[in-house]
Amino acid sequence: MTNKETNDISYRDLYVSPDKIYPRQVNGHFARLRILTVLLLLGCYYVTPWLLWNGDQAVLFDLPARQFRYFGVTFWPQDFIYLTLLLIIAAVGLFLFTTIAGRLWCGYACPQTVWTETFLWIEEFVEGNRNKRIKMDKGPWNFNKLTRKSTKHFLWVSYALFTGYTFVGYFSPIRELGLNLLQFNLGPWEWFWVLFYSLATYGNAGWLREQVCLHMCPYARFQSSMFDKDTLIISYDDNRGESRGKRKKNSDYQLKGLGDCIDCNQCVHVCPTGIDIRDGLQYECIACAACIDVCDNVMEKMGYDKGLIKYTTEVEEKTLGNEKTLFFRPRTIIYTSIFLVVVVAFFYLISNRIPLDINVLRDRNNLYTESFSGEIENTYTVKILNMSQKKQTYVLRVEGFNTIKLEGESEFEIESGEILMLPVRIKIPGEQLTRRSNDIQFTIQASGEEAYKAASAAKFLGPKKK
Ligand code: SF4
Ligand code: SF4
Repeated sequence: MTNKETNDISYRDLYVSPDKIYPRQVNGHFARLRILTVLLLLGCYYVTPWLLWNGDQAVLFDLPARQFRYFGVTFWPQDFIYLTLLLIIAAVGLFLFTTIAGRLWCGYACPQTVWTETFLWIEEFVEGNRNKRIKMDKGPWNFNKLTRKSTKHFLWVSYALFTGYTFVGYFSPIRELGLNLLQFNLGPWEWFWVLFYSLATYGNAGWLREQVCLHMCPYARFQSSMFDKDTLIISYDDNRGESRGKRKKNSDYQLKGLGDCIDCNQCVHVCPTGIDIRDGLQYECIACAACIDVCDNVMEKMGYDKGLIKYTTEVEEKTLGNEKTLFFRPRTIIYTSIFLVVVVAFFYLISNRIPLDINVLRDRNNLYTESFSGEIENTYTVKILNMSQKKQTYVLRVEGFNTIKLEGESEFEIESGEILMLPVRIKIPGEQLTRRSNDIQFTIQASGEEAYKAASAAKFLGPKKK
């Protein structure tokens, strides 16, 4: 290539701007299922932070207090293991689900799909159906277009702001947050996150839409590695559909060599990512099944069998249904086993969780002191955290030697969520110490709560033995 030719290629030539996609709304079995899923998930998202439990917000990530409150149970940074296990469950669950059901998550439950769907409902409500929207966008700016566009964006922005506010309501008490927002009295971080999340919702669901799935979503990139020939996919039956072509209803199309596809392009018009499923399985397909619904409607009108586009698997598709899809295969067995092990571990640990933490810090400035009577003394700071929901009375004990004395408070009360730093002195007769460094154990027990017991090991130092 000459220099001149190279210079002639501008960035504009290298990047082809995608045409705007105007997905048509569709009626059908899977569309109803998606609407139901969208309403259910959004209902959970918007309602959850408003729920109360014993007068407090039931679900709250209280970051300044380093607590996560969940229906009366408070989790602390010490409970990080539960979050780790939950993340492993979510990741393995997603692998398992993808291997079995393909991209059903993308088509029905992904936040991008869910919010885009509702933004499209608003768009259709304000600007009309697909044809009207295309016509309006191609037409000149006039009063009607200006009014409809500004109404749509006003509704989108309001909805996005409410979404951003709800998101921050998971981290800051939502009722106070609402009052402060109405009075424009939020803190800088609250403003930042409300506006950031609102902008992300408005931008992703209103403008970027399918571009997020096509170019930004990492899951879309690696999910194909979890697919195998038994994974659920959306497929067009080209044995039955080809040759495609227009025809009149009730005409003897088979005589003309035509298949069942009437080439109406409805499956392309409803596709939120703008692809033609008749070209085969493509990474852009999010398995939303809109093309199945619309094609089934077309088939019904034509008097043909439904299922020209359908959920199937590669194995069924290639063998024309002679071979059946396998649910239990090495991949699913491995994922299911890991999933079950982690789920059982999670529930075992959470049901045996003790809402109490003890941490013992030895006074490093003073190794030990020896009294005239021959007793060796070490000093410690015992840090006790009451992770339960109510005030507790605790008893502190120390073990490890036949004669071991704890001097200082040994019975005390701690409010729910409070930390007590307790200085204590431990004394052991010198003749019992056979080594310089000795193991002892502090135990803490809540009065009247047999199961609320925790222990922490510590070192007790004495003089060197000759
Ligand atoms: S909707 Fe069905 S009949 Fe119409 S073009 Fe698509 S596959 Fe063919
Ligand atoms: S091809 Fe069909 S299932 Fe795939 S994204 Fe498009 S409409 Fe949805």
